[in-house]
Amino acid sequence: MKKPKFQRPTGMHDILPEDQGYFQKIYNVCETVANFYGFKKIDTPILEDTALYEKGTGLATDIVQKQMFTLRTKGRNYLTLRPEFTPGIIRAYLEHGMQTLPQPIKLYSSGPAFRYEHPQAGRYRQFHQFNLEVIGDGNSVIDAQVIQIFYNILTEIKLKKLIVEINSIGDNQCRPYYKKLLLSYLKSRDLSLCVDCRRRLRENPLRVLDCKEEKCQRIVSQAPQMIDHLCQECHDHFKGVLEFLDEIELPYRLNPYLVRGLDYYTKTVFEIFEDTEEGRKMGSLSGGGRYDALVKLLGGEDTKAIGGAMGIERVIATIKSKKIKTQKPSNPPIFLAQLGIMAKRKSLKLLEDFRKVKIQVAESFGRDSLKAQLKIADRLGVKYTLLLGQKEVLEETIIIRDMKIGRQETVKLEKVVREMQKRLKK
Ligand code: AMP
Repeated sequence: MKKPKFQRPTGMHDILPEDQGYFQKIYNVCETVANFYGFKKIDTPILEDTALYEKGTGLATDIVQKQMFTLRTKGRNYLTLRPEFTPGIIRAYLEHGMQTLPQPIKLYSSGPAFRYEHPQAGRYRQFHQFNLEVIGDGNSVIDAQVIQIFYNILTEIKLKKLIVEINSIGDNQCRPYYKKLLLSYLKSRDLSLCVDCRRRLRENPLRVLDCKEEKCQRIVSQAPQMIDHLCQECHDHFKGVLEFLDEIELPYRLNPYLVRGLDYYTKTVFEIFEDTEEGRKMGSLSGGGRYDALVKLLGGEDTKAIGGAMGIERVIATIKSKKIKTQKPSNPPIFLAQLGIMAKRKSLKLLEDFRKVKIQVAESFGRDSLKAQLKIADRLGVKYTLLLGQKEVLEETIIIRDMKIGRQETVKLEKVVREMQKRLKK
């Protein structure tokens, strides 16, 4: 095939009709589970002020430093395509005065996110997330519940061997001291760190902990751990989260090096993986954490909150690799075949009558040959074909052909919808 003149942008994908079922199925499960736990849907613009992400997501993060798709409007404002959902949702929470409503506010949303990444398996420049936020509650039971919800969604999608990795990265009381400790340890070995990590030492030494380079990992494995330096409040909070997870028997693993890429996290951070070699390669299916300082940072009152997101493409890739079947959309039970211009005219109207009673009817109005139309009916595997020719139009009748037994019967045109309703109910 000749290479087309235009191609999709690097790292971005068309979601073709054959893949839409996966998205629909996953969103359905997500929304059903979220509704059960009392979450309400919110949609925010795909573009937000660039400054919102600089302040919210954080200037030192990879997202803000390297990955934002930013544009300048004709009014000379800078807007950025959403690289993650949380800052936009907190902006909406504050802008619509949700802090005056009974707390917590539980919100879910879904849609595309954009990051200028090096495209590879499971890592795209446009991808889709399902996102949850619980704003206005600092209790550790909420942390456990948010993790449980993502875990339940993934289990309901029939993914197995899931593992939650969890850590606490402390808060403004205990993290600065730990950062100093970590920094002095890493500085004493900085010549053995990769170039990126040497930069991270200056900007955010915590990010060295989740570097994937082997030489950095070797150094990190001897580094002081945050979990040994939590203040009393963070310690008790984390203990509480783990106890709740034990109570609901959710499989988790402590990962003292899990810090995640965003600046605003405090206390609990988590990721959910498929605990297999392919799962590790794919990366986390879902991740999130508590962000008790973000609402204030964005101009609100001191408000504790937690959230997380699930990557739809990664979940789909895992489903496909496991050959997990998703329900195919059902074929229509009826095919309407027409012959001649008068029949075509009547067919258009008849199709509407079926639509009103929610019976799906396939057709091929562009085709004139009866043979070609019946071939399509056969291929679709419909139960009944309705045949409307010149003669039937004049007599105001229609033929119902039972495709299984091959029997044909003529009925009054005005009665056919009722008749088909009856037959399909049987
Ligand atoms: P994050 O917003 O970075 O916490 O990521 C949450 C989830 O989104 C991850 O667990 C992944 O499943 C998914 N994700 C993040 N970045 C990408 C990407 N570039 N391409 C595809 N999925 C992604």
